[in-house]
Amino acid sequence: MNIIYVDNNATTRVDPAVMEAMMPFYTVKYGNPSSMHAFGGNVAEDIRHAREQLAALINASPQEIIFTSCGTESDSTAIWATISSLPDKKHIITSRVEHPAVKNLYEHLAKKGYKITTVPVDRQGRLDLDYFHDHLTDDTALISIMWANNETGVIFPMDVISTAARERGIVLHTDAVQAIGKIPVDVQKNPVDLLSLSGHKIHAPKGVGALYVRKGTKFTPFLIGGHQENGRRGGTENVAAIVGLGKAAMLASENLGDTQAAVARLRDRLEQGLLSRVQNAMVNGDTDSRLPNTTSISFEYIEGESILLMMNEFGICASSGSACTSGSLEPSHVLRAMGIPYTAAHGSIRFSLSHYNTEEEMDFIIEHMPPIIDRLRQLSPFWRQGKPVETMLTGAECPI
Ligand code: PLP
Repeated sequence: MNIIYVDNNATTRVDPAVMEAMMPFYTVKYGNPSSMHAFGGNVAEDIRHAREQLAALINASPQEIIFTSCGTESDSTAIWATISSLPDKKHIITSRVEHPAVKNLYEHLAKKGYKITTVPVDRQGRLDLDYFHDHLTDDTALISIMWANNETGVIFPMDVISTAARERGIVLHTDAVQAIGKIPVDVQKNPVDLLSLSGHKIHAPKGVGALYVRKGTKFTPFLIGGHQENGRRGGTENVAAIVGLGKAAMLASENLGDTQAAVARLRDRLEQGLLSRVQNAMVNGDTDSRLPNTTSISFEYIEGESILLMMNEFGICASSGSACTSGSLEPSHVLRAMGIPYTAAHGSIRFSLSHYNTEEEMDFIIEHMPPIIDRLRQLSPFWRQGKPVETMLTGAECPI
């Protein structure tokens, strides 16, 4: 069966050019960059080159990049490094829609006595900036707010957030795992202090990430061990993956303009096609400030998990905004924070595209989704005779 992969916020296909750049480091250039002999030592040059390529993508200097194993490690490192460097400050401000890589760590820190303020979002997933400004205090150790949301694609105003952080002298961390490679991210224009990113979201392999640490930012290593990464992260470097991340970063900066605009056109074609063919469907999130590749669509009165299973029969791979794997069948914390009604949040599907997608694939999805939604609604207790049950039970249409 042909696979139609529209789950690129979960992970991406490794670019063939990235794969090619990595291969020698498994076969002929397998030395340890810390070795004294030239066979190993020369590999350090390749890491240096990858560091330059990655730094260029975000307009940083290479010395400000630390390679890690994933976005989660970058997030944890940024957060632990900051609070260990500022032991007297016990307040952290974050948002209600962070990825679990950040959210669950703050829940853990709350149990350890930290005061965690979570800034709400509105129905469009936009950050409540008044609330944000009002809750910055002299005790705030860290502002930690994602650049773009993984479920809805909504982009947060990093210019406003970084200005506030600068004015108050508060350390600013951003989880830019979803923003990188999709929109311009420039750490000079938007002066964040710490920025997390992950290789497998930008067509590099899984198991590599990076943390940007602005020069002068107080930093305590999270992984303490060898002297690698200038003493800031112990552990033998994942050389092949680091080289792959460097190459992917270079390709991502080449692809930012026209390629991302083309991805946005595909996304819009899909979105409009589905909204015009399926009743009681709506887009979640601010469509004016959104990643070019992402759309979260709620198909009301049915279950996202069932939709995914039926899409799977056609080889269409996407994600849902409910988490029935947890056994709770609760919609995601992101959609709940936005105040999306349960009947809509439960039936939400995230489509996340890449430049590997085609118009034909979008048309295939547009053709196959409406019958899937129809079939599931026929089984739904909330849907009767082509309408939601609640409509039938209110006003003039009430059958009783
Ligand atoms: N932050 C965001 C916004 C993400 O979307 C993800 C992964 O989905 C992560 C962090 C974690 O990244 P990794 O899978 O590399 O640990």
